[in-house]
Amino acid sequence: MSEMEGIYEQVRTCQKCGLGQGRTISVPGEGPSDADIMFIGEGPGYHEDRQGRPFVGAAGKYLSELLAGINLSRSDVYITNVVKCRPPKNRDPLPEEIEACRPYLDRQIEIIKPRIIVTLGRFSMARYFSGQTISRVHGQYRRIEGNIYFPMFHPAAGLHQPRYRSMIEEDFQRLSTLLADLTQADDTPDDPPQTAEQLSLF
Ligand code: SF4
Ligand code: URA
Repeated sequence: MSEMEGIYEQVRTCQKCGLGQGRTISVPGEGPSDADIMFIGEGPGYHEDRQGRPFVGAAGKYLSELLAGINLSRSDVYITNVVKCRPPKNRDPLPEEIEACRPYLDRQIEIIKPRIIVTLGRFSMARYFSGQTISRVHGQYRRIEGNIYFPMFHPAAGLHQPRYRSMIEEDFQRLSTLLADLTQADDTPDDPPQTAEQLSLF
């Protein structure tokens, strides 16, 4: 069993927080263990809880469209959430639930070593951009200890409020540019990425 499969096995029966009681199926995450891009959402909703897969409802359909818009498919990226079990009635995950679930996400990041971690919504953003608001930092990446973190609005925001859609779509374009820059920088190591905008606050 690979280490990732070991995590899936633990998550399947986990009862480390109260969300373990109410779930139908836990949702550990999916995608290749060597993905360049990792998306971290909030937590499973109704459909995810039934299928055991992340982002399969309406927000997931939109996420797939956004990926297609930059020539990526779901099978190119890794997708998971800050909590692996559905909060009752889709309420926000509690700080203690996020904390209880954190070791799984930390290990997933260590295994995948993604080039870019995209946080979807404020709960995953808070891991790396504490004290920031998403409307201010979305679409601007930040480097921390060799990793790149890229905060975005949650795709559900685009479904509920059309004015978010263009911002989300622009952020996906920026993500695509950043990935292309990183790939090019691999080919020419002395030439650091220039095109994408780096958050100057940090
Ligand atoms: Fe375990 Fe995370 Fe599910 Fe809580 S949300 S029961 S910590 S897998
Ligand atoms: N919203 C999330 O944050 N995660 C999912 O897996 C589905 C919807």
